[in-house]
Amino acid sequence: MASSFKDICPVDVGPVYEGERIRGKDMQLEFGGPNVKYKFELVQVRDAKEIEDGKVSVVGPDIKDLQQGGSYPLGILVEVAGAQVEKDLEGVLERRIHEFTNYIEGVMHLNQRYDIWIRVSQSSFKKGLNSLKYVGNVLARLYKAEFPIIEKIQVTYITDPEKVKEMYEKALKIYEARDARARGLRDEDVEEFYGCVLCQSFAPTHVCIITPNRVSLCGSINWFDARAAARVDPKGPNFKVEKGELLDPVVGEYSGANAAAKEKSLGEVTRVYLYSMFGHPHTSCGCFEAIAFYIPEVDGVGIVDRNYQGPAVNGLPFSTMANQTGGGKQVEGFLGIAIEYMRSPKFLQADGGWNRVVWMPSYVKERVLDAIPENLRDKIATEKDVSSTAELKEFLKAKGHPVVEHWKAVEAPAAAEATAEGEAEMTVPELAIPVEGVPAIGGGIQLIFKNVKIRADKLIIKRVEKSKK
Ligand code: SF4
Repeated sequence: MASSFKDICPVDVGPVYEGERIRGKDMQLEFGGPNVKYKFELVQVRDAKEIEDGKVSVVGPDIKDLQQGGSYPLGILVEVAGAQVEKDLEGVLERRIHEFTNYIEGVMHLNQRYDIWIRVSQSSFKKGLNSLKYVGNVLARLYKAEFPIIEKIQVTYITDPEKVKEMYEKALKIYEARDARARGLRDEDVEEFYGCVLCQSFAPTHVCIITPNRVSLCGSINWFDARAAARVDPKGPNFKVEKGELLDPVVGEYSGANAAAKEKSLGEVTRVYLYSMFGHPHTSCGCFEAIAFYIPEVDGVGIVDRNYQGPAVNGLPFSTMANQTGGGKQVEGFLGIAIEYMRSPKFLQADGGWNRVVWMPSYVKERVLDAIPENLRDKIATEKDVSSTAELKEFLKAKGHPVVEHWKAVEAPAAAEATAEGEAEMTVPELAIPVEGVPAIGGGIQLIFKNVKIRADKLIIKRVEKSKK
């Protein structure tokens, strides 16, 4: 593939460059990312006469005009036309900007929609990659090669800060309209689900199961988008998933989803709960908009999104939890989610849904406020209310959050049983937790509980001396 792009781009192009990471010290510059507020990428289907096929333009300063080491706003607008190119395909085509941009040597693209982050390396800049036009040329060619239904395409990079800001507001409205479309549909109403394995290049065992009530965790592909993509490109990363038998309506376990996950993960994932973060949670790649994380101290769930700066209420920053959550694993107590999933009537249904959510960043809470049941709105803490789990516990007690009732329900029988029989029973989801009051031995210990019930008369921890040879 690399040689076929020599006429339009000064550096190599090919899947081999996917996954390439460019560190801050090696970058020529970056567009978007955490230091830049206004950024977006958008695909729009147009009438053929509105498009000049193959045109790539840059509105504002180009790579060569911008200072080395800087962070700049960017909007990417890809306009496509074709007799068979449906509006429903916009979301799926848009997601491919990530993949195609990453094919370019020395260009790193992360995230999606309003949250993009693109870096250009110094070494590729020195090889001549000094204009976004080269990147656009590659995109246009790859789109046409992968989607023969695209008859015309034009790509515009907007770097003029005022124009990016203006278009950003419009892009947000377009994303919202796409998301809203799937809100009226329920999982029970459709004959089949869809899947996506686009992120397997980064997370080889990751399989997204996309249902009306469970948008993809990147937030970019809903059920309608995936359906349209599977129809036009059945051999592509989106595919139909037979629902099969509904094995458990509470956790959302379908035999067809299990079978698809097993096949596409090459046997690594055999069961998937669509509405729970415990048991057999959905896998997470690395593109999730947010992480739902279990907080054992209050038996509640926190939400942190990738734009949150600083540690979440459990003391861990997003990046640390992302390492724990991602990579295509099923990690109980940590789940990558889309912000839109919080609007789903099945949002963490098996775990208590909104009744279990205890903390989230204030701006995320504001964004999904209408989806939060009214009686819970003032009971969910944000960084403005608390900064530790100890403070969170007090906050929840004072506000009468539903999890507090759960503490009482769990504590009462356990205490009664302990008094009557001199023993206690506990059930916890799989979590690695430090044991309070136990001195560290050789660097500390962890106990890992996996949905077990433990009955013990005594817990004895002994130091085992190594025998001398
Ligand atoms: S997160 Fe899922 S839906 Fe989104 S691109 Fe990756 S595999 Fe596809």
